[in-house]
Amino acid sequence: MKINGIPLHDLHLHTGLSMCSRDKGATPETYAPIAAKNGVELIGISDHIWDIRIKLPMDINFTSNCFEHQLQHFNDCARVQHGVKIKYSAEVEYFCGMLGIHESSAALLDYVLVAPCHFHAGPRALPEEYKNHEGVAYYLTKTFDEVCENPLTQAVAHPFDPMIFSYGDDLRKIYELVGWDRFAQSLQKCKDHNISFEINFSLSAARGTPLFNETYLKLFKLAKEIGCKFHFGTDAHSRQALTN
Ligand SMILES: [Zn+2]
Ligand SMILES: [Zn+2]
Repeated sequence: MKINGIPLHDLHLHTGLSMCSRDKGATPETYAPIAAKNGVELIGISDHIWDIRIKLPMDINFTSNCFEHQLQHFNDCARVQHGVKIKYSAEVEYFCGMLGIHESSAALLDYVLVAPCHFHAGPRALPEEYKNHEGVAYYLTKTFDEVCENPLTQAVAHPFDPMIFSYGDDLRKIYELVGWDRFAQSLQKCKDHNISFEINFSLSAARGTPLFNETYLKLFKLAKEIGCKFHFGTDAHSRQALTN
């Protein structure tokens, strides 16, 4: 299926190799027929990684989804299945000002998708002094800008989704504190560095709600006005999630 001539795609999918996936049967082979049934022509597999050659600046266990294991899996998989093209990527972590992938590993991927805002991921993912609305507002744009400026980044996962707090008014408050002028500066950086901005379907504020319209939808519109390029990502972690 094509929308305005662009193949329907999903460039942010997790297999069972991601530690946060509870569906160990989620693989490129089992995702491809679901994508085909829904008219999706292209999928991108992007499991979480922290490259073991880079010293992790905090205490998180990434060993069970070792990058080498993922690469082996990629090499063993056909690049077209059920008529669906399959790209291999990774959702690369960004912690403490460090991008979790080595240049030589990045070269093995079809594209490098970076998550600048996994603030929930560990005690230092969001420094203690920023664990309040003002701090999150500051750190959201700071990490986004740094990731856009990194020469290895090609796409940004779930931009400006802070992933902490209980949301509702927290998200509204954080967006007010950032302000649309500051968002525009970051989005200009995204455009200038030719980074793809993700329209993510697993964002914290549900689609169709007033909160979504006031925050993410407004952000997508601003990114479009500024001229950013986009991709779609469901961020599905299971076959059930992709089916839904
Ligand atoms: Zn993520
Ligand atoms: Zn993800």
